[in-house]
Amino acid sequence: MSAPIDLRSDTVSKPSERMRRAMATAEVGDDWYGDDPTVNLLQDRAAELTGKEAAIYLPTGTLCNQVALHVFVRSGHLAVCEASAHVGRTEVSSAAALSGASFQYVAAASRGLLTGAQVAAALAPDPYDVSVVDLVAIENTHQVGGGSVLPVLDLAEITTVCSAAGVPLYLDGARIFNACTVAGVRVADYAQYASSMMFCLSKGLGAPIGSVLVGDVDFIREARRLKILFGAAWRQAGIMAAAGLIALAEGPGRLHEDHANAQTLAAGLAELLPGGVDPAAVETNIVFADVSGTGRNAVQWRELLAAEGVLVTIVGGRVRMLTHVGVGAADIGAALEAWRRAAKAA
Ligand SMILES: *Cc1c(COP(=O)(O)O)cnc(C)c1O
Repeated sequence: MSAPIDLRSDTVSKPSERMRRAMATAEVGDDWYGDDPTVNLLQDRAAELTGKEAAIYLPTGTLCNQVALHVFVRSGHLAVCEASAHVGRTEVSSAAALSGASFQYVAAASRGLLTGAQVAAALAPDPYDVSVVDLVAIENTHQVGGGSVLPVLDLAEITTVCSAAGVPLYLDGARIFNACTVAGVRVADYAQYASSMMFCLSKGLGAPIGSVLVGDVDFIREARRLKILFGAAWRQAGIMAAAGLIALAEGPGRLHEDHANAQTLAAGLAELLPGGVDPAAVETNIVFADVSGTGRNAVQWRELLAAEGVLVTIVGGRVRMLTHVGVGAADIGAALEAWRRAAKAA
C-alpha cells in the first residue's frame, strides 16, 4: 500500500529538499549565548516582517504562548480568551503549572471569532475587586472555529477596547499567514494591534520545527530569560532555523493552494455528508466534518478512513482534516474516494 494521505494536521508535512540542504550546511553557534547566526537571522527577519522590535525563536508554539502568559499574567490572575482557544483549552494545564494563570472564557457567537463588545464586557472591572484580567489572548486563524479568519478591523476594535482597559493584547497567530492570505494583508497589519504575537513555522509554512515570538525589546529580553528557565535554550538551533528561514520566505506564497484543496475537500464531503460540512465556512486549510448524522461516530470514521489510507483526527467529536504542503490536489481526490469507500464499508 502507498503512504497514507495524512490530513491529521499541517504539522505533519516533511521538510523539502531545499530545507534539508540548508539544514545540512547551516552556519551555527550556541543559541544560549545568542551567537547562532542563522537563529539571529531568522529572528531579525521575523521582527522585520511583523514590524516588531525583536523576536525569539522557540521550539513550539505552545512555548511561545506559555512564555507570553508568564510575562503578562500574574499568578492568580486571569487571561481572557475565546472558549475553545488553544491557549485556554489545549494548554490549560501548562498555564496552571508554569504560571498559576487561569482563564476567563468568552464564547464566540460564531466560528471562534470574538467582537470588541464581547471583549469589553469581559474586561468590565469586578465590582468585588477579586478577579483581575492581565491579558486578552486572540487566536487567528481560530483552529476549533474551523480555521476562521478574524478581519484586521475586528482585531483593531478589540485592541481599542483592551487599550481603554489598560490590558495588553496577545495574538496567538499559529496560522496568521493563512489569515493574511485570505484577508490580503501583511502580517504586520495584524501584528500592529498586538503587544506581542507568535506564529508557527512548523504548520502551513512547512518547516519541521519551530515558532517565533515577537514583541518589544523588553518583552523579548524577559522571554529569553524564560526560554532558559523553562529549559528550552537549544544550542545549535541554527540547523532548524535554516529550514525556518526557507519556510518564512517560501511558505506564505503557497498557502492559497492549501486553501483551494480544503475547498475541494469540503465541497466533496458536503455531497457525501449532507449538513455535515459547510464549504462556505471553510476559509483556510481546516475542514471539520460533523458525522453525527451518519450512524457512525467520529472514532469509527477515523478507523474506517485509516483502513482506506487516509489519516484524520477528532476534535470535539468532529472529524478534523488539514491540508498542507504534503498534500496535492490529486491526494484530495483520493481522500474523497477513500471517504466514499469508507461510507460503503459495513
Ligand atoms: C498548533 C497551535 C499552537 C501550538 O503550537 P505547537 O507548535 O504545536 O506547540 C498554539 N495555538 C494554536 C492556535 C495552534 O493551532
